[in-house]
Amino acid sequence: MNRDVQPGATRLDSYVDRYAARTRGMTASEIRALFSVASRPEVVSLAGGMPNISGLPLDVVGRAISDLIANNGPMAMQYGSGQGDPVLREQICDVMRLEGIEAHPDDVCVTVGSQQAVDLVTRIFCDPGDVVICEAPSYVGALGVFKAYECEVVHAEMDSDGLVPSALEAAIVATKTAGRRIKFLYTIPNFHNPAGVSMSLARRPQILEICRRHDILILEDNPYGLLGFDSEPMRALRADESEGVIYLGSFSKTFAPGFRVGWALAPHAVREKLVLAQESATLCPPAFSQMAVSAYLAEHDWKGQIKQFREMYRERRDAMIEALDDLMPAACQWNVPTGGFYVWLTLPPGIDAKAMLPRAVTARVAYVPGTAFYADGFGSSAMRLSFCYPTPERIREGVRRLAGVLEAEMELRETFGAQLPGSTHGIESRGYDAPNTDLT
Ligand code: PMP
Repeated sequence: MNRDVQPGATRLDSYVDRYAARTRGMTASEIRALFSVASRPEVVSLAGGMPNISGLPLDVVGRAISDLIANNGPMAMQYGSGQGDPVLREQICDVMRLEGIEAHPDDVCVTVGSQQAVDLVTRIFCDPGDVVICEAPSYVGALGVFKAYECEVVHAEMDSDGLVPSALEAAIVATKTAGRRIKFLYTIPNFHNPAGVSMSLARRPQILEICRRHDILILEDNPYGLLGFDSEPMRALRADESEGVIYLGSFSKTFAPGFRVGWALAPHAVREKLVLAQESATLCPPAFSQMAVSAYLAEHDWKGQIKQFREMYRERRDAMIEALDDLMPAACQWNVPTGGFYVWLTLPPGIDAKAMLPRAVTARVAYVPGTAFYADGFGSSAMRLSFCYPTPERIREGVRRLAGVLEAEMELRETFGAQLPGSTHGIESRGYDAPNTDLT
């Protein structure tokens, strides 16, 4: 490798012509720099989707891990199977049964978080230019994967009942008519990130029927399904369709993201390709993490722990909705999520969430602008607010600050008309934000 950097060029400049073409899709978010400021303690961050693990019994976890090392250390410290630990795969089948899924452990592949499962599925199915249909808006981390594999994302609308069947049908027909190849529908049916809505039970068979008729695989991403506030878990799409659905699950939100353990449940025919892709990516998912999660599931009341998480997140959801009701200008709209981590808020016409973000951070509150969740530049008048991490008091304070910034923004707009000054940080008002570690 030539280590000489041309005079006047930065080290990065000297590599720019050598990167693979596909890295053109890998760009840092324009707002990443702002989030390093947003993570300061004086800023109330309603931005990141970090699970709140303060309720985890760390003493129990610590004991389980030390027993694991004492009794099974050599295995936990060793390479394992590319498909994942067989005992954990059986336990994963028990977890999925809560959503009506009857599966065989042979069809489960353990992954490094469900994020890696999105990556592996895209790797084995998508060539550059292939189309992935996504909800509008969609999870920023999945959009980043699709972009990295040079896929084209076609969005289909959602409403308060989730993905709209007629919008899905229209997106499929338009894409096929344009001669493009659709590889799969990526959907988050429960407590959507970022939209906060769930696909109604009545809609699920319709979505399955449309995909079956058009021969389109479904990638069902379900990290929040067990985190409903008021209801039992909803029936998974995979529960009623085993051949046409790849289901993704994760222990990040129901246990802890630090272990980085998720999984894919795939049709049997796909399983081998997934395992081969996993082996080339990581050789195997980490044995230690898997065995720690497995010990936790075997020895701890994990369902009781999830119940506690649900109560904690419900309390925070209530705090956010109450604060929004009390403090936000009337022209804003938002949904009341029944689970998960997120509220999707639509601003009054003409207010641009990304342009406003530096002013919000100056006022010590952060959110994620809606454009991050679209591959096509839409979403400028929306934002995602997370209620998972801060305390209820901090959530209220954050909403109070946000309402103040918004009112000032609306006044500014009245003064300057449609030409509201944009960001002071060179942030453009439209465009796609690549995934950012702050944007989980
Ligand atoms: N899918 C969705 C919808 C998510 O919100 C996240 C993380 N926030 C993931 C996948 C990835 O989670 P993990 O890799 O921690 O399982």
